[in-house]
Amino acid sequence: MTGGWFLRGGNDRPYAGSLPPQNSQNHKTKTMPTTTTQPDTVTRAPALLRSIADLLAPLEKIAAHSPNLVANHDARFEIRGETYELPRYLFVGPGGGDTPIRVGIFAGIHGDEPEGTHAIVRFLKLLEARPELAAGYYLSFYPVCNPTGFEDGTRHSRRGKDLNREFWKNSAEPEVQLLQAELVSRSLHGIISLHTDDTSDGFYGIVRGATLTKHLIEPALQAAEKFLPRDERPVIDGYQARHGVVRDAYDGMLSAPPKVRPRPFEIILETPQTPPAYLKEIAFVAALKTILTEYRKFIAYAPNL
Ligand SMILES: [Zn+2]
Repeated sequence: MTGGWFLRGGNDRPYAGSLPPQNSQNHKTKTMPTTTTQPDTVTRAPALLRSIADLLAPLEKIAAHSPNLVANHDARFEIRGETYELPRYLFVGPGGGDTPIRVGIFAGIHGDEPEGTHAIVRFLKLLEARPELAAGYYLSFYPVCNPTGFEDGTRHSRRGKDLNREFWKNSAEPEVQLLQAELVSRSLHGIISLHTDDTSDGFYGIVRGATLTKHLIEPALQAAEKFLPRDERPVIDGYQARHGVVRDAYDGMLSAPPKVRPRPFEIILETPQTPPAYLKEIAFVAALKTILTEYRKFIAYAPNL
């Protein structure tokens, strides 16, 4: 955690689907040069770019020696002549056997929400130290789903898109195409996305997919609640909520392929923006850990779910 870049505001407005593509007046851009409000025309100052390589260096170090963690750098795309990578990591838990439980964990699809990205780094360090937490799992991690937005500190990609409104709509966005290919090929049992909401004072979750999802979110929120309060408002961003759980979802968000049956569980974890970075990260980690534990129990009781 260094410098103001990582303390700047995320601006997760999960239901703000009507925002125009380059709208950024809702973002906390105080520390940004004004030109960055127009990602398509900005001349970027390299000194202000956040470094993805620096961010992921601890994971690269672990992957170099770990029997469990594999780094994959083959997912590449181009934006305006520059080549970017969609970083991918696979953590193979002990005893996965022939039928591992496959879960994908995604963060940073909004480039101004670094909390989830840092939480994944923290979570992978924990798993490396205690691999039994991932027993039975193949965990696919995508810590920086919007690399150009992460570098620029903007919600949108450098092509001016909110990538989390583009899924399963024949999107031309290369990041979305890569992520969709992952979502198809991995045949995930569960999908967890990490976001930051600067309109909320509490931690909450959005659930969809498999009906058992509701049995995963409550323990996850309880685990996070040890570090951050829960958002108990009856309405969160215009949607009905109950004890921090929202059941509606907006169009075009990162999700399982539309035709996949049975549906995987799908959980979006939302941290409030204002608490200290450390608390946000350990709240995410506690929730992730709990979801893995609870889902493993379901699989044990009902192998054909
Ligand atoms: Zn977000």
